[in-house]
Amino acid sequence: MVKKGVIAAAAMLGLLGGCGESTQVPRTGVVFSMNTVVEYKLYGENSEKAEQALLDMFREFESRVSNFLPESDISRLNSAAGEQAVELSQTAFDVLVRAISLCAVSDGAFDITLSPLERLWNITSDGDIGAEGVSVPTRDEVEALLANVDYRSVLLDPGKRTAKLAKQGQAVDLGGMAKGYAADLARQTLVDNGVSSGYVSIGGNLMIIGKSPGSGLFGYGDRLYKFSLRDPRGGVNDAVATIELTDTTMATSGDYERYFIGEDGVRYHHILDPMTGYPANAGLMSASVISPDGAYADYMSTNLFVRGREYALNNINSLDCGIILIDTDKRIYVSKSLEDAVRPLDGKGYTFEVVQ
Ligand code: ADP
Ligand code: MG
Repeated sequence: MVKKGVIAAAAMLGLLGGCGESTQVPRTGVVFSMNTVVEYKLYGENSEKAEQALLDMFREFESRVSNFLPESDISRLNSAAGEQAVELSQTAFDVLVRAISLCAVSDGAFDITLSPLERLWNITSDGDIGAEGVSVPTRDEVEALLANVDYRSVLLDPGKRTAKLAKQGQAVDLGGMAKGYAADLARQTLVDNGVSSGYVSIGGNLMIIGKSPGSGLFGYGDRLYKFSLRDPRGGVNDAVATIELTDTTMATSGDYERYFIGEDGVRYHHILDPMTGYPANAGLMSASVISPDGAYADYMSTNLFVRGREYALNNINSLDCGIILIDTDKRIYVSKSLEDAVRPLDGKGYTFEVVQ
């Protein structure tokens, strides 16, 4: 799963105080789980039990789909590449089925078999210039590995619940959609455990349940949860806009979370274009997607980032999800459906436009 040194593509903003403040006490926490920072706030009758169920679920999910734990189902699948089929847990099988279906609709922009290239690029740093292990690979090295990138090589047998990678050297990395998938599981777990309101941020991937409770009867004083959208060229706490959300998820892909600046001055980051094997460089600094389907939002944010500014802008109102793009000329574009939800913050040097 994705490794990240900082919290939040969407760092939390304090909720508005004042009258209508809830008398309920939420259960909050910040933990390191699934190789990233998980932050949550939960309201419910038995939020302690819900919290425990949430953390157990994350541990179980990670033990199945992690790329870092050698015993995970995905690691076993990768180790047996080109050799044999591996029996998977239902969790890992379901994630793989979903991941492959998303690869298939991405027109080549989203591919879970980029893992060997991710390892070659080894972009794990948060802007370390010239740090060890982050030198630019040669074109030959990139092309040799690129030849094996093809999600159609993941061969699934639903009857036996097994998977096999067709060729030796191939490997799967679910980092482009796993946090969103986990966000969907989190919603289910929390709702099943009586959580009526709250949010979970999984390394900046947000999942929101209901509204922030007010004090009055009949929902009086309830407010939408409010978050901030990170400045892709600012620090962890610098925001360019705020967004109000309820009962949905939000995922962001950007070129600022894990990257290094090469000796050639180029920003090399962790989202790769499966067509070239190089970091996607198509006019965007970040792409955020809002959808009740967390796996879809996570996939779509990566997909849009790879496909780039032109494709994303042309489709900003037709993809059945809310979209916020920040391009390399510091222009923020928001889809029509988010017109009332997103508010730009002044003085950040960005222009702002709701695309009609
Ligand atoms: P993040 O998880 O860092 O917030 P993303 O959702 O865009 O952002 O996921 C990036 C991760 O997805 C990378 O670290 C890598 O594991 C994987 N990845 C990178 N490029 C692609 C791609 N084109 N298709 C599928 N997965 C990708
Ligand atoms: Mg993603």
